[in-house]
Amino acid sequence: MSVTLGELHAQISSCKKCPLSNTRLNAVPGEGPGRPRVMLIGEAPGRNEDEQGKPFCGAAGKKLDLLLESAGLQRKDVFITSVIKCRPPENRVPTLEEATTCKINYLLVQVQLLQPEVIGLMGRVAIEHVLGEPISLATMHGKIIERKGQKYAILYHPAAMIYNQSLLETMKIDFMSLNV
Ligand code: URA
Repeated sequence: MSVTLGELHAQISSCKKCPLSNTRLNAVPGEGPGRPRVMLIGEAPGRNEDEQGKPFCGAAGKKLDLLLESAGLQRKDVFITSVIKCRPPENRVPTLEEATTCKINYLLVQVQLLQPEVIGLMGRVAIEHVLGEPISLATMHGKIIERKGQKYAILYHPAAMIYNQSLLETMKIDFMSLNV
């Protein structure tokens, strides 16, 4: 592959491929080591991420830190990003067109460059757009599945815990599946 991760992230930061570039403050390419064992994919940047250009730096990020810690993982060792790199207005769900454009041009290239052993798909949007098949979070959370030689961990989105505290223990157990 001819592009480096740094070059790709520079392209993302100045991307104008979809209308979200008109409303974002900062694109959020993601961050972490260049050859991580674990890559985590969320949905889309929220307000804090848009302001700072960093993934999971708001309320959902605090929950993510807690889940990583309880699974014995350090945030600095994990590559963290989202399906789309720019905040949708009012945090609405990304459209199919936005998600597909961002996935093909950026997310899939990140995966090829990073070659993670396991990819944690956090939430319905990540599962839907990365796997492109209907997978029930309710029955599959905490499981590892393999597609085309790539392992995927099926995880709830960390923000789910903000709305439903009782998910905490389940999500802690689910995140341990990243230690495959
Ligand atoms: N939620 C996501 O899915 N991604 C972020 O970067 C922040 C919150």
